[in-house]
Amino acid sequence: MANLFAQLEFKFPKWMRGASLPKVKSVSAIASDKSDPGMTVWCREQAMSFGLPELAKKVRVVWNPRMRTTAGRAWWPSRLIEINPKLKDLSETEVWRTLKHELAHLLAFERCGRRQIDPHGIEWQMACCELGIPGESARHSLPLKSRRMKRKYVYVCPSCFSEIKRVRPMRRAVACYACCKKFNAGNYHERFRLIRNSL
Ligand SMILES: [Zn+2]
Ligand SMILES: [Zn+2]
Repeated sequence: MANLFAQLEFKFPKWMRGASLPKVKSVSAIASDKSDPGMTVWCREQAMSFGLPELAKKVRVVWNPRMRTTAGRAWWPSRLIEINPKLKDLSETEVWRTLKHELAHLLAFERCGRRQIDPHGIEWQMACCELGIPGESARHSLPLKSRRMKRKYVYVCPSCFSEIKRVRPMRRAVACYACCKKFNAGNYHERFRLIRNSL
């Protein structure tokens, strides 16, 4: 499994951070309307209690209605957590379990800085224990749908968060059609290149 952090690094290397390119921060700007103040405050308190002030300052939780089968997603260094609103139909327990799963990713990333770590490795497992979900599964799909899923390769547009599912992994660079059409006259642009959703 690829590391999402590595993918973000690949997506936005330092030398190409210009005014026209999306900064990681823009991810949170787009999703700001779906913020969940209650869960955000809870994550901030957790981060403070673990002595991570930078995370406490920046962490934010949003509902992303564009997510289909993915339960949640964590972005670092933007420190954004996305939660699938469909979880509310399952149970409050599922919402909180997913929130903790994603916050555990941010705790692990925060502590390791720019050092690459296995997304569901020992750092994440330890954070799960600290958040009260020991033995948490590395899966990110919604519990009810996962078994019937045939298209197991999920890609996400870093601009509009649309998800594209494939039965096989993509061998070439593929960009989000909607965003290329809207912002680049229908031509391929690297900034809309789909990211493998592996966290
Ligand atoms: Zn898009
Ligand atoms: Zn995970």
